[in-house]
Amino acid sequence: MNPDRSEAIGRKLEEVSQSIRTAARRSGRTPEEVRLVAVTKNFPAEDIEAAFLHGQRVFGENRVQELVTKVAELAGRIDCEWHMIGTLQTNKIKYLAGLVSLIHSVDSQRLLEAIQRRAERMDMVQNILLQVNVSGEGTKHGFQPSDLDALLEGRDRYANIRICGLMTMAPFYDDPERARPVFAGLRNLRDQLSVRHAMPELIELSMGMTGDYKQAIAEGATLVRIGSAIFGQRTP
Ligand SMILES: *Cc1c(COP(=O)(O)O)cnc(C)c1O
Repeated sequence: MNPDRSEAIGRKLEEVSQSIRTAARRSGRTPEEVRLVAVTKNFPAEDIEAAFLHGQRVFGENRVQELVTKVAELAGRIDCEWHMIGTLQTNKIKYLAGLVSLIHSVDSQRLLEAIQRRAERMDMVQNILLQVNVSGEGTKHGFQPSDLDALLEGRDRYANIRICGLMTMAPFYDDPERARPVFAGLRNLRDQLSVRHAMPELIELSMGMTGDYKQAIAEGATLVRIGSAIFGQRTP
């Protein structure tokens, strides 16, 4: 591991963590309510190990193959939590079961069904978030808010899935303040669904990235997914 690189990651991690705590306190929340998911896509396993050595425990990847490779590379070296945050195909679910503690990006009923089948076969419960397309623009992935009532009414079918909350990606705005209505929309949706469907377990709001996490925290984010502010620009 390159010691300069490791130290730089540690410094950025501390800056971001500090700024998360500040954003939480400013909006009258406690810092413990907001968890940092360090997004490590396109960065090597050594960077993950460096972040781990500086105290980071939750890592997010957006591609199944990359996630599986890194988990294998780091097995026995670090003990952390892995989250899947990227678009998923049903035929890849089998590689994830048992590896990830949370899937943020469940965006279709077919995917829920595939996760249910796999989790049932493995006799486990998979934690997931429902990805919602709040704004109707930007990313096309995600449920429409109006899809969710019917989905949750039929949730008995997903006995091996625990729906822990909602996730969204705001469209990119030059001014991140413009993303606030999107984040507020996701929070309102969670609050309403939680009451209407008697689901107090609907707690998590995964929203906010490098460019807009402060606004997301002000609107109630419990999980922020941050990559470039910690690891630098990604080269695809
Ligand atoms: C890459 C990615 C992020 C992190 O993006 P940064 O702007 O680097 O913080 C967050 N969420 C998802 C789904 C991503 O794919």
